[in-house]
Parts: sequence; C-alpha cells; structure tokens
Amino acid sequence: MSSDLTFACRCGSVSGTLLDVGPGQGDHVICHCTDCQDLTRHLDHADVLDAHGGSALYQSRCARLRLDTGLEQLACLHMTDKPTLRWYAACCGMPLFNTYANGKLPYITTQLAVCDPAKRESLVGPPLGHLFTEDGIGDTSALPKMSMAKLMRRFFPRMLRDLFSGDRRRCPLFDSETLQPIATPHRLTAEERQALRDA
Ligand SMILES: [Zn+2]
Ligand SMILES: [Zn+2]
Repeated sequence: MSSDLTFACRCGSVSGTLLDVGPGQGDHVICHCTDCQDLTRHLDHADVLDAHGGSALYQSRCARLRLDTGLEQLACLHMTDKPTLRWYAACCGMPLFNTYANGKLPYITTQLAVCDPAKRESLVGPPLGHLFTEDGIGDTSALPKMSMAKLMRRFFPRMLRDLFSGDRRRCPLFDSETLQPIATPHRLTAEERQALRDA
C-alpha cells in the first residue's frame, strides 16, 4: 500500500502529496488552541473544526511535502506576534499547513481536513492526544490530553534529521537558499484580531 497521502484545497486549485506518511513518520494530534480556532474563523472555514473546536493535524518532516498544482495560490499569515506561520489557499481560503516563521526550524503540520478522506485515517493512525483542551469548546474533560512538551520531544529527532540531512532546504514552502517563506506573510492587524473576538 502506498504511504503517500494526497491533499487539496476546497476548490481544488492547490493540490499536492505528503510522502511517507505513517504513525512512525509523524504525529497526529488534535489542537484546540485559540489561534488554531481563530485561524479557521478568520479564513471562514470553521467547518473544519470538530465539536470541541479541535483541528486535526499531522506534524511531519518538512521535505516530505510535494506541491503538485496551485503554487501561486499559496498565502501565509501570522495570527499573533508568535512565530507560527499559517499557510492557506488564497483561492478558497482553505487552511493547509502550519510551519515555523522560516525554514530554519524545520517542520510541517498539515490540516488533515484537506487530506484524502479515504486514506488519511488509516495512514496517520489514531490521534496521540489533544493539545490545549482548556481552550476548547464545551466540556473537554474527557478528551485524552497531550502536552506540548511531549509533542516537542517527538518532534526533536525529526528536526535533527532535517538539519543534518539537508532536508531543511528541501521544503517547497521556503526558499532553499534564504529559508524565507515563498509568499510574503501577513500579520493580523489589531482590528482583524478584534473582529475575531467580536464574532
Ligand atoms: Zn493550535
Ligand atoms: Zn482553493
């Protein structure tokens, strides 16, 4: 069975493939943090959230991403002053990936909502746990929690491999020389953030 997982934005303009997908290759988590929730609302795609405001995410190595179509539609933003960069498809506003602000700290976190529904569950396996359940919607006390520290411990060996193998320079979202994002990031303005609070 192929371990490649295709993805596409809602309108289909942006499409690509995650290569070598499996529970041993990356981490499937559900994030309930306010920024992940706000992202989907800002992009008008809160329908990707589960009943507790969770986003299903798969974090894996940066060079395992292949973009097949719609490169020119890729856009990115920062929700806050934090470095996390949120990539989305400008054509239809679909959230796609989270990365660090530049390619120096290599990882890619993909929204499972954009991945092939027929294959995603069998390939990424069950979620390891739920992050930031305290920010979730409704009673999240029964959700199996996962700490950010645990996720970081799992991410660390993958990051080292990306650094030492040179894969850090093989992520299509970042310039291979400068490691800067291929699209100019927008940082949400105070007014845009306030609009999310008022909604
Ligand atoms: Zn989050
Ligand atoms: Zn689209």
